[in-house]
Formats: sequence, structure tokens, C-alpha cells
Amino acid sequence: MPKKIAVLAGDGIGPEIVAEAIKVLSFLNTDMNLGLVFENALIGGAAYDAFGTPLPQTTLNLCKNADAVLLGAVGGPKWEPLAHAVRPERGLLGIRSELNLFSNLRPAILYPQLVEASTLKPEVVSGLDLMIVRELTGGIYFGQPRGVHVAENGEKVGINTKIYSESEIRRIAHSAFKIAQKRHKKLCSVDKANVLEVTELWRSVMTEVGKDYPDVQLSHMYVDNAAMQLVRAPKQFDVIVTSNMFGDILSDIAAMLTGSIGMLPSASLDANAKGMYEPIHGSAPDIAGQGIANPLATILSVAMMLRYTFNQPDAAERIERAVNSALDSKVRTADIYSEGMTKVSTSGMGDAVLNALKG
Ligand code: NAD
Repeated sequence: MPKKIAVLAGDGIGPEIVAEAIKVLSFLNTDMNLGLVFENALIGGAAYDAFGTPLPQTTLNLCKNADAVLLGAVGGPKWEPLAHAVRPERGLLGIRSELNLFSNLRPAILYPQLVEASTLKPEVVSGLDLMIVRELTGGIYFGQPRGVHVAENGEKVGINTKIYSESEIRRIAHSAFKIAQKRHKKLCSVDKANVLEVTELWRSVMTEVGKDYPDVQLSHMYVDNAAMQLVRAPKQFDVIVTSNMFGDILSDIAAMLTGSIGMLPSASLDANAKGMYEPIHGSAPDIAGQGIANPLATILSVAMMLRYTFNQPDAAERIERAVNSALDSKVRTADIYSEGMTKVSTSGMGDAVLNALKG
């Protein structure tokens, strides 16, 4: 049975970077006989222009029937005046919830060739390779009751609710333990169990699920300490698992350790490891159409797809090694350029990765 990938290029630099990722993936597909087939569909502003909605039913159906989704990016100034309900970003949120993509994986890897791009000292960050697993469809961003109301004394009161059921914690726990098994088998669960009862439950369910994974070393850390440790000594971490809001904040800290938004991939997975894969950056309208965007985050997102959805670690490693070789050969897109390097276009970088794969 061929394995289907829904390809949603989206807006801005989306089509430019996705084209390079597909170039790399198509080569491996033939070279390693992976049995992948690709089908394109519109999302975001491009879909709004064509169909009056950022997430047409045909696109949603394609994603539901596919084994994985590759997304470029959505949005741009052209669509900013639109009502919130039809804004490009709504297309993205729609897919995440329709496909129940509750497990958000954000690796932060610092390539040795780019160590100077980090704001931290080289000795603190060189060799950094950590993964944050963030719960994506629950917690305080979705909990009820929520809102702002006027209390009996006439004062306004704002409320949000951090709520997790055992089953929600259990499924993100399994997801994180399985990822740790594929890495260095160390999992740190981040909570605030000294203050929040909901995270007391989080901690106890994590501990209970951990019994199913005796090969993974589980530890617990309070979120305030985790924020500090990420900046103080980030290399102590292998995999971090945490709730929606804590993960939102910690993953941005971790991303900044690597210093370069054009390099970072992400995955959002469901319970069966079906996933949507995308760079963490947006549609970069300021550089769209110029052929200068960095395609490496999207190419590395494809490597994640091969590892997590298609269980093809060898193919994933080939891409990651090829990205390393391309950087070794000193080619750089504008965002990661420094003196002494060779500046290349979006397709020039894609070609450098392809050549490294072929070599
Ligand atoms: P952005 O990530 O698009 O851009 C921020 C800066 O980083 C810009 O200067 C841009 O040129 C640069 N940049 C981003 N990706 C790059 C790449 N691959 N290579 C080189 N430089 C790159 O964030 P923004 O400007 O805040 O948002 C622009 C649009 O993207 C908005 O409409 C926003 O809503 C949307 N957005 C979409 C997603 C998504 O689709 N997942 C995520 C974030 C923002």
C-alpha cells in the first residue's frame, strides 16, 4: 500500500521551501523505495482566495485520508483585514483539532557550524540536541470555565482553567516515553506540582506510565527551575514533556538557544503517530518570492516525518547527515550567512542537501 502525504504549501515562502523538501524526499523515495505518494492541496490565504475559506473540505478530507501532512506556512498581510473566522491561521488550528494532533514535538538542535548564531556561550550550547514534547490540545488554553465577567461587587474578573484528565496525561506520556526510547532514553517531566493540583495528577500519571518503559529514565522538574536550567545548562536534557502552556513558553526558550528560526522543524502527532510536519517559522512575507528563504527547517521536518510517522530512521538520518554536509560545505542562505561562507538561494540550499544525499 502506498503511503500518502498531503502537501500543503500555503502562503508566502511556503511554496518555495516545500518545493525543496519535496525535491529531497522524492529522491529518497526512489532511492530507498519508500513507497510514498504526494498529493497537493490549498490551505490558508491561498485557499481563501480560491474557495473563500482557509480550510476547504477537500483539503481536510485529503489530510484525514493521508498518513502524514507536510505544511509550509500560512498567513500574510494580504489577509490580515479578514474576519478571524476566515483568517489563514484558522486553517492550521482547524487541521490540528480535526486530526487530534495532541503531541507537539519541537526539537532544538544546534548545528556545530552555526554555534556563533546562538546568544549563549559556545561551551553552553555546542552539541545541544533536545526535544520538547508539548501537550497541544488540552490544558489552560482550552479549559472551561473561561472568560471575563463582572463579579457581584461590580469588579471585572478574568478566569482560565487548567484542566487535564488522566487519559489526556496518559496519552501524552506514552507519546513522550516512546520518543525518549528513540533517543537517549532520558525523559524530564515538567510541572508545578508544589502549587497546582492539576500538575500533581500530571506527575503521578507520568510516574505510573513510566513503569511501562523501564528502559527510560524519568525525572521531574518544576517549571520555574526548568526555565532556568534551559538557559544555564541546556545539554542536561534529552526529552522534556510538559503541558500546553508550559510547553509553549519553554519551547520558545529552547528554540532561541539555537539562534536561527530557519533551521527548526516540528511535528504534531496523534495517538497513532499520524502527524503534521512543519517548520516552526511563519510565511515570512517580507522575503516571499525572492528565492532567499532557508528551506532547512522544512527539509528537517521531512526527516521527522520519516522517523515518527513512517518509522524509517535510516532515511531520516540520511537527511540529517546531508544537512550537516551541506553546512560543512559552507553554503548558507541569507539568514545564517556569515563572512567567509558562500551565499546561496533557497533552491541552491536544496541542491546542496540533494547533492550530499547523492554523494
Ligand atoms: P515569520 O516566522 O514568518 O518571520 C519572522 C522573521 O524571520 C522574518 O524576518 C522572516 O523573514 C524570517 N524568517 C522566517 N522564516 C525564515 C526562513 N525559512 N528563512 C529565512 N528567514 C526566515 O513570523 P512573522 O513575520 O511574525 O509572521 C508572518 C506571517 O506568518 C503572519 O501572517 C503569521 O500569522 C504567520 N505565521 C504562520 C505560522 C505557521 O504557518 N505555522 C507560524 C507563525 C507565523
